[in-house]
Amino acid sequence: MNTPLLPGAALGVMGGGQLGRMFVHAAQTMGYRTVVLEPDATSPAGLVAHQHVAAAYTDAAGLAELAASCDAVTTEFENVPADSLRTLAERVPVAPAAAAVEICQDRAAEKRHFQRSGVPCAPFATIETEADLAAAAGLLPGILKTARLGYDGKGQASVATADELAAAWQRLGRATCVLEKRLPLALELSVIVARGRDGALVHLPVQQNLHRDGILAVTQVPAPGVSPGLAAQAIDCAGRLAASMDYVGVLCVEFFVLADGSLVANEMAPRPHNSGHYSLDSCDVSQFELQLRTLAGLPLAAPRLHSAAVMLNLLGDLWFPGETSEPRTPDWAGVLALPGVALHLYGKTDARRGRKMGHLTVTAADAAGARATALRVCERLG
Ligand code: ADP
Ligand code: MG
Repeated sequence: MNTPLLPGAALGVMGGGQLGRMFVHAAQTMGYRTVVLEPDATSPAGLVAHQHVAAAYTDAAGLAELAASCDAVTTEFENVPADSLRTLAERVPVAPAAAAVEICQDRAAEKRHFQRSGVPCAPFATIETEADLAAAAGLLPGILKTARLGYDGKGQASVATADELAAAWQRLGRATCVLEKRLPLALELSVIVARGRDGALVHLPVQQNLHRDGILAVTQVPAPGVSPGLAAQAIDCAGRLAASMDYVGVLCVEFFVLADGSLVANEMAPRPHNSGHYSLDSCDVSQFELQLRTLAGLPLAAPRLHSAAVMLNLLGDLWFPGETSEPRTPDWAGVLALPGVALHLYGKTDARRGRKMGHLTVTAADAAGARATALRVCERLG
């Protein structure tokens, strides 16, 4: 596909979550028609797309309907069945491709890809049998992670001894896992790159991330603890990881910065990422517009950061202050009275603790200003 798909064309998304919703918004802003395949009748993306194909991700009729309604298809979550992407690709251009998504779906394959691309990652072992457990003891203390389907710290256990490792593997259902050495983290950062069909590569500025209970809580841009040299290294690694998969689309790579200042790749997401949401409000091209441009084959203009940003995730817990079971509505009017606050809610009807309900970006002329307002936001949200 060398001719770009211009506004008016129809773009499909596998998955109906918030990332799909924000892609749909970006595509609609530029005059594209949007179609979402998602089983849930009231999903964040399905509710706002022009067309919602209500079907399971593996449903042959649903996939045929999506392919017939679209000029190209992308995905908004990495656990989309790779075979479904292959089925779609027989009829319509799909980006990113099944083979790349498949690497990102499996922590062991992902780490092999890091090694192949010359990008440092945590020492690890793949655990499939009791014998693997014994052989991996040298990595302790470590973190045991299911190879597939983990997210937001789920499917993980911190283990210090061989007994804890064996017990944790039982608890995880003896599923294929990776055991990673526990590394001394100074901070966490991530970088988003977009790669076009012609190999053109652009990136967003490097962002610094703070996780709470395994879930992203705060992202800051510019990254306060990251030197220009370290940022350039992260961008170079992410670009190499994308190029060596012949990747087309938006790719997010999460990194650890260790106590000695070295950079270690943690994981990749074959799609826009929670840590890139600030780009909607503080960059002239957002991660969702980059996804659209790569999918449609449009030129990739280098994004520019025009404001400093602090992004705060809004979890369902905000709806349940204290121990009371009665949900409340957070004080949106109070936070919107502060300067530079952009509120993004995903249209999820049901607030639950730990569930990502939305996010909020504070922008300001400089990082200190954004941080000061973000602190006031936190006070008002309680
Ligand atoms: P998820 O897919 O749930 O985001 P990650 O592998 O990114 O899983 O792990 C979640 C968080 O756990 C990381 O952001 C980091 O804070 C911590 N973590 C993960 N692996 C390690 C490690 N090897 N050493 C130290 N901390 C880790
Ligand atoms: Mg992660």
